[in-house]
Amino acid sequence: MTQPVASTIDRIPARKSTLGEGMEITRALPTRGRRMIGAWCFLDHLGPIRFAPGQGMHVGAHPHTRLQTFTWVIEGEILHRDSLGSEQIVRPGQVNLMTAGYGISHTEDSLAPGTRLHAAQLWIALPHAVADQPPAFAHYPQLPQWQAQGCTWSLMAGCYDGHTAPTALHSPLVGLEVLGDAAGPVHLALRPDFEYGLMALTGGFGIDGAAFPQDELAYLAPGRDSLALQLQANTRLLLIGGAPFAEAVTMWWNFVAADMPGIRAYRAAWEAQDARFGTVPGGEGRRLPAPALP
Ligand code: MN
Repeated sequence: MTQPVASTIDRIPARKSTLGEGMEITRALPTRGRRMIGAWCFLDHLGPIRFAPGQGMHVGAHPHTRLQTFTWVIEGEILHRDSLGSEQIVRPGQVNLMTAGYGISHTEDSLAPGTRLHAAQLWIALPHAVADQPPAFAHYPQLPQWQAQGCTWSLMAGCYDGHTAPTALHSPLVGLEVLGDAAGPVHLALRPDFEYGLMALTGGFGIDGAAFPQDELAYLAPGRDSLALQLQANTRLLLIGGAPFAEAVTMWWNFVAADMPGIRAYRAAWEAQDARFGTVPGGEGRRLPAPALP
């Protein structure tokens, strides 16, 4: 399928934001230009950063609703604790997946202070029919990984090239990492019913001569069955995709809700320390307050 690039590829620059206690991160979703890609509704690129001795990423207890948090680690280790009692370290090549459903709270802390941290955190909106399910947590220590086209391919979610990731999903999605040492062409097989986002976590890539450096998201509307890329040397490419999400999603702070009254109710419940969000063992003393509503 050949289509004019200009009509189907949008360039979405990420913006700098801060996480927890002042760690700078790059946020690629949601942005003014694009809220979602399939059900993927949030994409933070953390680091790579080298912490000073005694420093690290420490995100105090905070709630989530009607979404899944999806953590992919490239360097370093992150300890997840949640109100279900889950306590799980996620290491490079692994996924931590927390399904908030009705309501959950968690803390996130990098381990081994003084070392590097490099990770991506994504959120996946839950379809209304399953959005209020009981909260759950899953850890995937091993995911499909293979060599092709001179690159190492890791499948984080969904299906690709005959591989299937075990990650529990509730809508048609894919999440893939392509790691290439040498510069060169890479051919991606795409589903015409999916929209996609491509972002270099290191390095960069080109599409038909248009350069996308690190942290610039290329958005592809549905309708393509393949894509030819030129990878720069030492590129770590993230590909996310999914069927365009058909339902209205309201997102604010750490909540997904059906509408703004839903957001207000979740915020009030968190501020009232309502049992909906439980308590994180050990996290009672560092509870993040909800910001003021706009
Ligand atoms: Mn969180």
